[in-house]
Order: sequence, then structure tokens, then C-alpha cells
Amino acid sequence: MSNAEILCIGTELLLGDVLNTNAHYLSQELAKLGVNCFFHTTVGDNKARIKECLANALARTTIVITSGGLGPTADDLTIECIAELFEAELIMDESILSRIEGFFRERGLEMPRSNAKQALRPEGADLLPNPTGTAPGIIWRIREKQLESAGIRSIPELVGEERLIITFPGVPYELKRMWEDTATPLLLQRTGGATIYSKELKHFGIGESALAEKFSDLLNGNNPTVAPYAGNGECRLRVTAKAADLQSARNLVDPVIEEIKKRSGVLLYGYDDDTLESVVGEMLKERGMTIASAESCTGGLLSKRLTDIPGSSEYIALNVVTYANSAKENMLAIDPQLLEKHGAVSKECAEAMARGIRSLAKADIAIGITGVAGPGGGTPEKPVGLVYIGLAAGGQVECRELRLPSRLSRKEIRHRTVNEALNLVRLYLLTQCKTAAH
Ligand code: ATP
Ligand code: MG
Repeated sequence: MSNAEILCIGTELLLGDVLNTNAHYLSQELAKLGVNCFFHTTVGDNKARIKECLANALARTTIVITSGGLGPTADDLTIECIAELFEAELIMDESILSRIEGFFRERGLEMPRSNAKQALRPEGADLLPNPTGTAPGIIWRIREKQLESAGIRSIPELVGEERLIITFPGVPYELKRMWEDTATPLLLQRTGGATIYSKELKHFGIGESALAEKFSDLLNGNNPTVAPYAGNGECRLRVTAKAADLQSARNLVDPVIEEIKKRSGVLLYGYDDDTLESVVGEMLKERGMTIASAESCTGGLLSKRLTDIPGSSEYIALNVVTYANSAKENMLAIDPQLLEKHGAVSKECAEAMARGIRSLAKADIAIGITGVAGPGGGTPEKPVGLVYIGLAAGGQVECRELRLPSRLSRKEIRHRTVNEALNLVRLYLLTQCKTAAH
């Protein structure tokens, strides 16, 4: 059974100077290959601690992947630590040495003496070529006996299993190239060509725990697995399967997706890279309809997100920000008495904004948004987080009142408001037929 630990080496990672993107990349790549990654470990440039982490990783996983510490300087210790752990002799690889010398010569430089260190590898280890840098990595197969003599005690499940150590430099583009060229084919061979396939089902209008409850029977599955995630004001279910090839993995995932679709109904709005704005855009196009918006408390965020989608000029008629009451009156023809009576943050105003912009833009659907984004400006009757979203379409106007938690930041209130507005448009469009032309 193949499972892995990623060991990232470098004090700069622990200090927070460098973001550990290598762990992120390697994890995604391992998942694609169907190798379970069980641990991420990060350690500084310290010999004793690197050796301790190596020993731990080798005791509990079969593939140990290291990143960093292959450079020429005194704080680049990875190879030395591996060799010391197994009391292996370090041998100078002449062909690598002349390659490194050539690397400098081509740039009109003399190789610093310290770089010779990069041509050292423990006896018994193979080289992992580095086509874009000086430091090659190593691939070393370790047998149980070697672990024993190094004093490493395997966890019971792994006793007798061969281990694989693969080392990479820290520089991300060097690591990626080496991963693609050499490590991927090697690991594919080892896992018998296993692959992983996953799809994300994006939901809006339901919380993470309600979603988990709704699908509790599916969450215990093994292959495929179904896992809920929340964030950014929406919830996702990720369905993941492992199989010998992509098609077989898809065959495991597809029936589960069908089941989720059936149960989720309108709560499911899209998949993977879909966003509420991209889905709404697609629906407007399919129906040959146009949209317009008048925003107040969201300050143009709805317009921004709608226009983020390439090709949105096809369906956006007009978006305006009418922040001041005078703008609402002048541009959207809102009756000053309405504003006086109900205030700008009111159901009546949101509906009037939607009606006003719809007739100005001659659009099929229009949205009007008004609310209190905070942090100040709230009153007991109209607290921070109170938002009204009006939707005018087909001679009808409806309004949704939101009471978002007042502890949310201004940014978060705006973001969630726009999510709700987009979802309101989506739900309306679901009731409209697609045009024959599409
Ligand atoms: P070099 O030959 O450049 O010294 P190296 O293998 O010794 O390579 P490090 O010295 O550990 O690698 O890192 C080189 C650079 O790569 C770092 O300065 C950092 O910017 C980047 N780096 C190192 N580790 C990571 C990581 N885990 N994620 C992203 N970037 C990293
Ligand atoms: Mg270095």
C-alpha cells in the first residue's frame, strides 16, 4: 500500500517568510496519482531535527518526499542527514559534478567550490535529474533491514514494506519539472496506474451542518468518499473516487452525483469552477434575457461580479450605483416621499430601485439593493446587516429581506448580499423557459 509524507525543510518556512506552496502542489499531485498523503511536516535547517523527522516519516509511511535543503550552502543539509541516518557513505558522482561545472561555464562563471557538494549522493541511491537547476535529487529504496539498523521502528502495518525516499530542491519550478519528468512515471508504476477523480457540487442556501445531515448516509462511504466543505458563504460536497484508470473512477463518482442532484434540487447551483455569477450568466444567455442593477450598500460589487464573466456584455444592460438619495430620485425616478416615509433602507425602496432601473435599462430582469453594510450607521430598527434585495421582472416585483449577523465585516456583508442577489436571479431564471434559439 502506498501512502506518503511530505517533509518540507527550510527555516524560512517556519519563520513565515516563504509560503509552503510545494506542500500544496505535491499534495494535489499525490491525490491525482491515488497516493494517500498522511502527513505534512515542516522542519528548519537543523540536522538533529531533520533526522528526527526523516525517521518518523519513514516509520509511518512508505513514500517520504522531501523539499528543500539541496543547495550548496552550509544550511542545506538534506542529503547529509539521509546519509547519516543510514550510515551510508557519500559518494561524489563525477557525471553530476561535470554537469554542474558545465552549468556555470555556460554562464561564463567558475563553479564555487561549495557547489561540488551537490554532486554527492548516498551509496545505493539513484539520482533524480534536475533539468532546470544545479541540485539533483535522489531516489532511494530502503529495505526493512536498513530501517532496523538505523533504529527506525516501523508501525505494525508497514513492517516488511519497502520505503521510498525522494528528494527535491526547494525552488518550486525546479521541483515541478522533476516531479513531472521523473517522479510521476515512477510513482505511477508503483501504484499500478491508479488515479483519482473528484468533483465538487456547489450548493447555495443551505448551511454546512444541514448539508451534512441531508447526506449523512453518503458521508460514510469509502470509495467514492463524500465530504462537505464550507466557505465564502456557500457549501460544497466533494465526491472523490480512486480506481485503476480515469473512466473507472468516473464510473464510481457519477451515480453518487446523480443521487446528490436528485436530493439537492435547487440548492445545487453548479460544479467545480462554477460561480453564482457564471451560472447566472449562462442561464441569461440560454434564455436570451438581459439584466440591470441598481446598487446602494454593495457599491457596485454585483456589477463587478457580473462583469467578471467574459462575454457578459451579451446580457448586461445597465448597472448603476445610486448611493445618495438624490441619485435614487433622479436616476431611478424614486418618489422622494417614498424615501421620506420608509427610508432608503426599506423593502419599498429596494423594489422601487429594481423597477426604476428596469425601465431605464429596458432589461428583462432588474435588481435593486439597499441595506446597512456597517460597521456604523445601524439603529435598533435598522441594524447593521439589514439588507433588502428587490427583483423586478415580467411586471412583477419581489423583495428579499436579509438579516445578516451584525458582527460581520462590511466586506463580508457586501459579499453575502451579492451572493443572495445572484441566487435570487438564479431562482427566478429557473422558472423561465430556455428560448428555442438556444
Ligand atoms: P537552492 O539550490 O536554491 O539552495 P534548495 O534545495 O537548497 O535550493 P532551499 O534553499 O530550501 O532549496 O530553497 C530555495 C528557495 O525555494 C527558497 O528561498 C524559497 O524561496 C523556495 N522554497 C523553498 N521551500 C519551499 C516550499 N516548501 N514552498 C515554496 N517555496 C519554497
Ligand atoms: Mg538552499
